[in-house]
Amino acid sequence: MKCPHCLENFNAEWQYTNLGQDKNSEFDISYCNCPGCEKKIIQLSKRVRAPHTTFQTSLIYPKAIARTPLSTDVPEQFAVDYWQACIVLADSLKASAALSRYCLQNLLREKAGVTKSDLSKEIQQVLDSNTLPPYIAGDLDAVRNIGNFASHPIKSTNSGEIVEVEKGEAEWNLNVLEELFEFYFVQPEIARKKREALNKKLADAGKPPMKAPAISSVSN
Ligand SMILES: [Zn+2]
Repeated sequence: MKCPHCLENFNAEWQYTNLGQDKNSEFDISYCNCPGCEKKIIQLSKRVRAPHTTFQTSLIYPKAIARTPLSTDVPEQFAVDYWQACIVLADSLKASAALSRYCLQNLLREKAGVTKSDLSKEIQQVLDSNTLPPYIAGDLDAVRNIGNFASHPIKSTNSGEIVEVEKGEAEWNLNVLEELFEFYFVQPEIARKKREALNKKLADAGKPPMKAPAISSVSN
């Protein structure tokens, strides 16, 4: 199975505890440890006997499958909102989309230096600035289209509001956040470490360091 914490595959050795039964159903808890990340995985299984025997298994811990392990380069203030949007995704698309819109707006204000406005206009400012690679710019623009902001202006004016979601909107917002985290935090850090390693080699060879490139995002 794939570990819902770290997304690595492993051979699960499940242990079971029977919780007994109620009027219609029988319950089991099953659990195992992931040898990779050493975290526990716990499931609740329900077997309904009547009118037909059916099984339902739901993940209890973690609450949801991780989408992708988030880099530690992503600052806590954004990582927390993103993770909460992931955790509630299975139970509430509306709550998840509200959290991811809110996180997106804060991210654009901090990293793209947009003038505070509503989310739709802030996205437009970022697109007009031509600071994003075209594929991310297109995906960011689609946040407004997939979310049908034209019909739900509250999504834009009050980004954290719980409102109806369009099909695919909650997942799309998370995709875009992951792309922006990669662009604003992860890749610059990788590039910085590479430059640092190169400069060390240059210094060892008695040569001057390479020039630092222009920073593409507005602030750090
Ligand atoms: Zn794991």
